[in-house]
Order: sequence, then structure tokens, then C-alpha cells
Amino acid sequence: MMMTNNQRIDSRLADGSAISWTMATWNWATGCTKIDPQICDSCYMFSLYPRLRKMGLPTYRWRPDEVHVHESMLQKPLEWKKPRRIFVNSMSDFFHERIPFEFLDRVLDIIRATPQHTYQVLTKRPWRMTQYGHRIGKYPENMWLGVSLGTNEMKFKIDHLRQAKARIRFLSLEPLLESLVPLDLTGIDWVIVGGMSGTHWREHEMRRDWAREIRNLCIQKGIPFFFKQSSGFKPGQGTFLDGRRWMQYPEDRLAHRSAAT
Ligand code: SF4
Repeated sequence: MMMTNNQRIDSRLADGSAISWTMATWNWATGCTKIDPQICDSCYMFSLYPRLRKMGLPTYRWRPDEVHVHESMLQKPLEWKKPRRIFVNSMSDFFHERIPFEFLDRVLDIIRATPQHTYQVLTKRPWRMTQYGHRIGKYPENMWLGVSLGTNEMKFKIDHLRQAKARIRFLSLEPLLESLVPLDLTGIDWVIVGGMSGTHWREHEMRRDWAREIRNLCIQKGIPFFFKQSSGFKPGQGTFLDGRRWMQYPEDRLAHRSAAT
């Protein structure tokens, strides 16, 4: 079957990602509403969505603050034969309150049916992740669960994450807006740190020491650490910390664990 132009653009958006810690994105939901004033105010989804709508992509034909799920995108990972690390819903929030649990059940069916892939789920609504966890018990082995936060006020999200029965639990401390140390990393398998990008980066500049102290804590605890970027106008700017790139993944820790047993 011939692909239309829009289908081609859709596939390009899905297969390959500008986010450095993933390989592809799977957007079976689009649109979101702001929940964390410090992080959501600089959300890239709100600027990218209108551009995709202008291009005529069918899954972006509403307003960015309207949440829609897309049957047409559900089967996408079944088409990808080679294993990929897939970021789920870069243009929404997996656990958004407008996404019914019944639809999440169907998403998890696809995740279970594609064990060759690793699914990275990051949410700013971990209380809903907890509710969904009560419904299903254990998450699939190939699904990593993470929460985003950048301030001490939001640390309660980590407690929700710790309760999740997931093989890998991770933190995305991005944009990092203040020192978060002391930081309890019990039950955490991976930590990503990054500064703010976009027009407001100067108002919320990340101090390198804040990233350094988290990196040092990760080294001390044997937790893989990923430094995504410094603060800067362009995404992906300043990826070095103390003269090197930090691009560790949870698999590094799993390898250590199995070597030790
Ligand atoms: S939760 Fe994520 S996608 Fe939704 S508005 Fe906030 S930053 Fe954007």
C-alpha cells in the first residue's frame, strides 16, 4: 500500500527522536494540560503542536490543550521489528486524567506483545500511575516508569514512583530549577538531569553544581546517570559535565547486578 505524505511525516516523527535518551517516540495520545507550573510553563508540546497541525497531521487537528487518543497509532510498535527504546507520549502525558484506564489496558497489551522493545513512560501525574498500578498490579517487564520534577516541592512524586511495581523506575530532573540534594534515591534505577531550554532559559538557569551533586550521589549509590544538557536556548546544548558526557542507562546497572550474582 502506498503511503500518503502525512503518513510519511507521521512515521518520521515516530521513528527517531530528538530526545537524547530515547530512540523513537510513540504518540498514541496528543495534547495535554498544564499540571506543574514550574515545568509545564516551558512545555515544548505547546509550541510544536500548532506547527504539526499546520502540516496537516491528522492526530494534531485540535487545540494542544485538548487530549485525544488515537486508535490509528496503537499498532505502531508492531511494525518496528528491530528493538528500540521508545518514549511513549512525548506529546501528552501517559497518565493524563482524560485518558481512560481501559485505553491504557490496550496500550499495555501492545507493550506485552512487543518484548523486543523497551518502553519509557514519564509522567507528571504519578498519583494516577499509583491508581492504575492498583488496577493492574505489576507493570510489564519491558516498561520503564519515571516521574519528572525540578523542585523540592515536587519530591512527593518520587514516593508514588517507589510504590510502582516496575522493573525500572527513573527520575527526570529536568529542568532542574534548584538544588535537590539531599535526595532519597531508594528504589530508583536511573536518573536524568538537564537544564531548561527555550526562550526562558536565562530566568531559570541551572547551576552546574546542582547537576554535579546529583551525579556524585548517583556514583555513590551505583545508579546510572544521564546528563542531558545545560541550560540554553537550543535543546541539546552543552551536553558535557566536567569534561565528559554522562550517558549511562539502567541496563548498565542490570549488567552489574547479573555479573555479581
Ligand atoms: S505534563 Fe508534560 S506534556 Fe503536559 S503540559 Fe506538562 S510538560 Fe507539557
